[in-house]
Amino acid sequence: MMKLLDGKVAIVTGAARGIGAAIALKLAEQGAHVAFTYVSDGSAEKASSLVAEIEKLGVKAKAYKANAGDFAACETFVNEVVATFGTVDICVNNAGISKDNLLLRMTPEQWDEVMETNLKSVFNMTKQVIRPMMKARSGSIINMSSIIGIRGNAGQSSYAASKAGIIGFTKSIAAEIGSRNIRCNAIAPGFIETDMTHYLNEGEAGKAFLDKIPLGRFGKADEIANTTLFLASDLSSYITGQVISACGGLNI
Ligand code: NAP
Repeated sequence: MMKLLDGKVAIVTGAARGIGAAIALKLAEQGAHVAFTYVSDGSAEKASSLVAEIEKLGVKAKAYKANAGDFAACETFVNEVVATFGTVDICVNNAGISKDNLLLRMTPEQWDEVMETNLKSVFNMTKQVIRPMMKARSGSIINMSSIIGIRGNAGQSSYAASKAGIIGFTKSIAAEIGSRNIRCNAIAPGFIETDMTHYLNEGEAGKAFLDKIPLGRFGKADEIANTTLFLASDLSSYITGQVISACGGLNI
């Protein structure tokens, strides 16, 4: 049976764990070859077990240690992917961090780190992947924003600014490259159970958020992977420049 992404080549940044890992697996299940990145030495083992898991699905997989916030590292990474896999059809810019702090206490270093990892990374990667995509006259770029980028949240000004920046970038790039049949969309997840949000399961903060989620639960990484699959595949062939919220209806 034909799968949604048979023979496509997908890149996922920050996929050793969390939402990125679920996305890498989901795209592979649908027939895509997957190249993914991580950044810390501590994730090398997780990355190689994910490669093994993906290969069992009968597609190619490769993990790269590459800092998505570093322009030169992204250039090298994408060049290596094109040399190894032939092209890039799908790019999921998922790598991200949060360094939450009230503005009064936030240091310029904390601000810069969040901006580089979350926002500059999207510029770094998109600039590289549009070259093979323009050659192929097709492609889908998916940027991981956040509901916080739409609504803001006390204590998360840098994170919110970076995620809002991703939305402006996504809409602009969609306008620039639509004529080449390259689509660019963003996903705005709500609270998804991963290492990034482990604190939600502890105590009052978590309960307070739950009360604001109409579906009455936190989301799962696999649910964001499903949204990503939709945007990566031809199921969304007439959708570009959009932000899809996958947040259980969260209203903060
Ligand atoms: P996570 O569990 O903390 O995983 C983040 C992944 O990104 C890790 O694999 C990490 O690599 C990688 N990463 C971090 N900095 C990187 C860099 N500079 N270069 C390359 N990779 C890097 O986070 P998550 O919850 O899955 O979040 C994934 C994305 O979804 C992020 O952009 C996040 O902002 C967004 N998001 C998450 C939620 C949520 O509720 N969880 C909600 C909205 C949006 P290592 O493993 O090597 O550290």
